[in-house]
Amino acid sequence: MNLASWILRNGRRFGDRPALAHGRDVRATWAGFAEQVAAVAAALRQVHGLVPGDRVALVMSNRPEYLIAQFGAWHAGLVAVPVNARLHREEIAYIVDDAGARLVVTDAEHADDVAPLVHDVASLEAVLIAPGPAWEALTAHAPMPMTERAGDDPAWLFYTSGTTGRPKGATLTHRNLLMCAMSYFADIDAIGPDQGVLHAAPLSHGSGLYGLPHVARGAVSVFPRDGVDGPELLDLLDAWPGLSFFAAPIMVKRLAADPALVAVGPEGLGGLATIIYGGAPMYLTDLEAALAVFGPRLAQIYGQGETPMTITGLSRADHADVAHPRWRERMASVGFPRTDVEVRVVDDDGVELPPGEPGEILVRGDVVMAGYWNRPEASAETLREGWLHTGDIGSMDEDGFLTLRDRSKDLIISGGMNIYPREVEEALLHHPGVAAVAVVGRPDAEWGESVVAFVVPADADAPPSHADLDETCLARIARFKRPREYHLLDALPTNSYGKVLKRELRTRLG
Ligand code: AMP
Repeated sequence: MNLASWILRNGRRFGDRPALAHGRDVRATWAGFAEQVAAVAAALRQVHGLVPGDRVALVMSNRPEYLIAQFGAWHAGLVAVPVNARLHREEIAYIVDDAGARLVVTDAEHADDVAPLVHDVASLEAVLIAPGPAWEALTAHAPMPMTERAGDDPAWLFYTSGTTGRPKGATLTHRNLLMCAMSYFADIDAIGPDQGVLHAAPLSHGSGLYGLPHVARGAVSVFPRDGVDGPELLDLLDAWPGLSFFAAPIMVKRLAADPALVAVGPEGLGGLATIIYGGAPMYLTDLEAALAVFGPRLAQIYGQGETPMTITGLSRADHADVAHPRWRERMASVGFPRTDVEVRVVDDDGVELPPGEPGEILVRGDVVMAGYWNRPEASAETLREGWLHTGDIGSMDEDGFLTLRDRSKDLIISGGMNIYPREVEEALLHHPGVAAVAVVGRPDAEWGESVVAFVVPADADAPPSHADLDETCLARIARFKRPREYHLLDALPTNSYGKVLKRELRTRLG
């Protein structure tokens, strides 16, 4: 099936209900959204000469035109390439080139970086700026019928965030994205047309993926006027009750400390349906702070672009089940396998491990990508006998809850012992003087690697002493896991999806 059929269907069924909103303002009804999607599709095919299977890159901030362009591309049988607009010009050029995109849709904010790519990228023929006169002409074009797509046809080239090297395009098919949406209904929220999704995080990543089940059900897609802080969130919840949004843990932490939200607390957030967090570790101390402010309106997901944000999940009900004897362990886990996948933890020989033993996490199911775009070797290495090798290490408990340790490349091996940075980070965060922390390994002639912690103090003028930090660790984890060095930082380096760049921290160690 073609995912654009959701738009046609909702255009008929929910005609004059809001589909796209900017702040409090409705930007398109479902009928209007459907008309514009069919018009853009026709113009891409008939004016720009694109043919089914061609790639259209989207390099823009979150705005209503983004979804019109994305679904317009699908309606026309094209492949969307959502690019993180906050990337450097060279990184954007790399992705547009790698995807062999023939056309880019951008916005005025990014046009200076993107327009010159027509000269630099061989495949690229046109750059359209939306909104703008050329875009208005597109949306006014006579509509075309939807192009049929098979489940295996590519829909979205999802470029990995590149924390480990050059980004690769995970080829997500219409079926993959359909499964991503279906399992959201099964495991996170059923969603109704009276609900909405707030695009508080980039549409090229989690927010775009979780936007799909909302679009499917006729919920409104809401674009914040600017960044999302406490007052903006409260205003949008008032305008659009039943709102959910995806946020990286770093953003949840920021919002949980926002005075406007702390002041109203869980009772004042009746309009909030669910905050879906994931993409990076959520530390227990931060989660407890967030639950105090938002109430049990949090759901965690663990996934990756290769299996669009669908491996395991921790539901709202799990968060609310405070009386469970292992509630804290569960909150520190990434939940249990999603309905549409099988998940295994295996050793280096691919043999499934018993509960409690850490190994690589493997995933199988219809949500798993077709492969990496134009990279047969990387695809063969990652997809073996139908299983996606995630590169993440975790262990499954007796009840089937998965605890993620770390990316395998972040694992520290010191004196022959495995040390998972996350465990050390969780321990250090118990110190009230620690606002944020990242732990990495430094090559060490004697031990193989030694543990180094980068600490962001809560108060830069009164950072915790090394002795204090040591004591905090020793109260919770084995002595050999304790960092040998502590470095103070003003902030941790993160990418725009909120992931800490450990590679950069290791480089700083020289
Ligand atoms: P990306 O495909 O760029 O979103 O990166 C996916 C990676 O982010 C995963 O392989 C994990 O290492 C990490 N990740 C995703 N979700 C979680 C989570 N809930 N907790 C901890 N790490 C996560």
